[in-house]
Amino acid sequence: MTTSSNFLHACRTVLGTAHVLTTSDQVAPFLTDWSGRWRGEALAVLCPGSTSEVSEAVRLCACAGIGVVPQGGNTGLSGGATPQRAQPSVVMHLGRLTLVSDVDLLNNTLTVGAGVTLARVQEVARAAGRLFPLSLASEGTCTIGGNLATNAGGTTVLRYGSMRQLCLGLEVVLPDGRIWNGLRTLRKDNTGYSLRDLYIGSEGTLGLITAAVLQLRALPTDVVTCMLILDSSDRAMACFDVLREEFDAVLTTFELISPAALDAVAEQLPHLNLPACRPHPWVVLVECSDASAGRHDGEASSQALLSHRLEQRLAYALDTNIIRNVVIAQSAAQARSLWAIREGVPLALSRQRTALRYDLSFPISALERFLQESRSRLVALDADFLPVVFGHVGDGNLHFNVSPGAGRVNFMSEMTDRIDAVVYGLVRELGGSVSAEHGIGRAKSTPWRDSKSPVELALMHSLKTALDPQGLMNPGIFFPAAANTSLTS
Ligand code: FAD
Repeated sequence: MTTSSNFLHACRTVLGTAHVLTTSDQVAPFLTDWSGRWRGEALAVLCPGSTSEVSEAVRLCACAGIGVVPQGGNTGLSGGATPQRAQPSVVMHLGRLTLVSDVDLLNNTLTVGAGVTLARVQEVARAAGRLFPLSLASEGTCTIGGNLATNAGGTTVLRYGSMRQLCLGLEVVLPDGRIWNGLRTLRKDNTGYSLRDLYIGSEGTLGLITAAVLQLRALPTDVVTCMLILDSSDRAMACFDVLREEFDAVLTTFELISPAALDAVAEQLPHLNLPACRPHPWVVLVECSDASAGRHDGEASSQALLSHRLEQRLAYALDTNIIRNVVIAQSAAQARSLWAIREGVPLALSRQRTALRYDLSFPISALERFLQESRSRLVALDADFLPVVFGHVGDGNLHFNVSPGAGRVNFMSEMTDRIDAVVYGLVRELGGSVSAEHGIGRAKSTPWRDSKSPVELALMHSLKTALDPQGLMNPGIFFPAAANTSLTS
């Protein structure tokens, strides 16, 4: 028997034959990412059903010198869950870790396995009269483990923060198979290095997250959703200022969509109800929400009062030409149809496969400068290059795609480098980040390395080598894989 068949035999003994996938049909869905851009190879896909099975499987990998690529819902947009060829690896699919505890109402927490989908967590919280606020267009498929490993953000970060702010404790299987049980429910715990914070956002490079304690919030009772129609992107920033001044923490969502992104939605998802004006304008989806439990002030409900306050503020924005028009949802169904436009943008753009995609963040004060400068520098490269923009601008986060322009199928390869240089050059100039929320994965290694100082890189490398000395956890992410060829197939 070869070394790899010994290894697979041992995995079958630990996990059961049905949970060690090896045929090409079985493994294919785990070896290509959501966008179809990244493809990989793996010896097998392992599907453990408990933390102790994860631990046993990782121990086997450590003994055999085999890389471990964690995978949850495989919706990541940076290729981080797709195994690379440089290192013989398995995909460790954590989708069977689906235990969900009862909601702890007094603590306002929920403990879940890493394989539970985000949508399921939201449902469980809602059934208990609470809110789990993280919200992404991929929520039906992405998992809590993947959300934590990428420190996912989404459309409510403005008010509730990203995954890091929503997690109190973690359970992690370490690269040698030991289990760290950090499932604490404490809001305050100043007892040394925060291991939890180290694992959040580490993209599976230091260990596998197997469970987490999540913080819940009050379920909003009053929600007002509206879509603002704007003449230009700079008005969006002015409007953000006007709304934040009045609503502060109640301002939950502030999402910008550019005319070109609306064009893509109109083309790819014609059933959606887009703003009637043509050419498409800039729009912003705004949501304010509050948890006042239906309080009344005299005759008016708190919902009516929130609507009234928003209408007044928007009337000021109309009068001062900050916005051109506004649609305020009059029902939950209308709010859903406004949200469908925003949520349709990534799907519509993913069908335009040739675009270059960037997930950038900036100080909010620098967003408009980036939009203006990037446009003029791209036009200087080629007048047809079209920036297609949307994003969580209330968090300073822009999803910035560059399309080659009408009638062109692709970019010339050297042009890709020049566009990268324009975009990442501006990120550097304006004090931004090369990855706001999607992580580094395979897609952003070079800009990530270029954006870090030697001291930062050295610190991160020290952490990696201290915690994963064999370099087997998600090899090739952040740092090049230490090719291990001890295994014969
Ligand atoms: P995967 O794709 O399986 O993995 C992502 C990374 O995490 C990989 O590096 C993987 O190795 C690692 N990983 C997965 N599980 C574990 C684990 N248990 N332990 C350790 N490492 C692990 N992201 C946002 O932040 N905001 C958005 O608004 C957003 N919108 C999206 C919209 C669409 C339509 C799509 C397709 C994606 C979107 N994403 C967004 C990206 C993606 O959904 C998130 O990054 C999500 O958190 C990934 O979860 P997952 O379970 O699919 O992880």
